[in-house]
Amino acid sequence: MNSMAKIEDDNSYVIKMRRHFHEHPELSFEEVETSRRIREELESFGLSVKAVGKTGLVADIKGTSGKTVALRADIDALPVTEENKDPYASKNRGVMHACGHDAHIAMLLAVARRLSREREKLHGTVRLIFQAAEERPPGGAVDFIHEGYLRNVDAIIGQHVISTIPAGFVATYPTVAMANADEFRIKIHGRGGHGSEPDKAIDALVIASYFVNILQSIVSRMTPAFKPAVVTVGTLNSGYRYNIIAAHADLTGTVRTFDQGVRNKIRTEIERLLSGLCTSYGATYEYEFVEGYPALVNNPEITAVIDKVASEVVGRDHVMHPDPAMGGEDFSYFTKEIPGSFYFLGTGNETKNITSPNHSPTFSVDEDALKYGIEIMYRSALQLLG
Ligand code: MN
Repeated sequence: MNSMAKIEDDNSYVIKMRRHFHEHPELSFEEVETSRRIREELESFGLSVKAVGKTGLVADIKGTSGKTVALRADIDALPVTEENKDPYASKNRGVMHACGHDAHIAMLLAVARRLSREREKLHGTVRLIFQAAEERPPGGAVDFIHEGYLRNVDAIIGQHVISTIPAGFVATYPTVAMANADEFRIKIHGRGGHGSEPDKAIDALVIASYFVNILQSIVSRMTPAFKPAVVTVGTLNSGYRYNIIAAHADLTGTVRTFDQGVRNKIRTEIERLLSGLCTSYGATYEYEFVEGYPALVNNPEITAVIDKVASEVVGRDHVMHPDPAMGGEDFSYFTKEIPGSFYFLGTGNETKNITSPNHSPTFSVDEDALKYGIEIMYRSALQLLG
């Protein structure tokens, strides 16, 4: 095949695969059929495949002796009911590839297919990591670390499709890319009573309302201006009926930070405010702070390689360097272990009406952008092998 024919061939393969996985999404840690199909593809390329954790997979493409570079794709879907009407829309009702991990699998398979055909020219080893359960902490990344698959790996690369960046653009981050993504769960216990006699009760609903308000002073008054932080209350549930004073209130929320000191401080300040407020009103509380994925910090040298390669593929003026995102990603566990870099591949397209955000029921990807993802991963891997 000439190089144009090769690109066309990769293109039809990646779209075919993406649609297959899109049609058959599976939730985190339940990716049994997904994993089986990936294994089947990899074995058809002549690779030997090992299971990691429950549904993760690893396979090496071995060339001559040299460095080892790992390429990672996450493989899980979300509990979202798809509203797109494509012929390949989800057949598993209530589950959808609404974060584009179907495209991640397809692109990594396409890279694997190409590399395994050129194995005799390869200087070193490319390790393919198909990781389960990115969407659900504790996540599937840690299994690869615990089972030793990052040992002696020189570099790791991961990519993520995103609809807020147009197709044909790429976003890279020299160092900090994504946030510490933590969760808090709070219960406030007052004393219930008749709605007409508040003096005989302790109104947990009123206390919870105050609490949501005073929480806002953490970011505005208690954290340094140059260290980003977000505190969001996502749920507040309280009460029984219009004429009953609520005995209890339940709140959950998320804290996003980059700095470990700020992360610790917010964890403490939430409880200080909660405890002070509950004491003032004679209520009691329960407080749980659950650490989620740590901040994702890229290696600048590896990012520079991706920048250079991406400039060749999509053009220098199509490589963006935006502010870090406050989202979470368990790729961060990999970059805590070994040097790595995670970048975003634009897959939005206004003219094709592909604008819905990741995680929404009408999320979609511009499949014509997937060829750039293949090319960037493939060429970056070769560059990093040296
Ligand atoms: Mn995702």
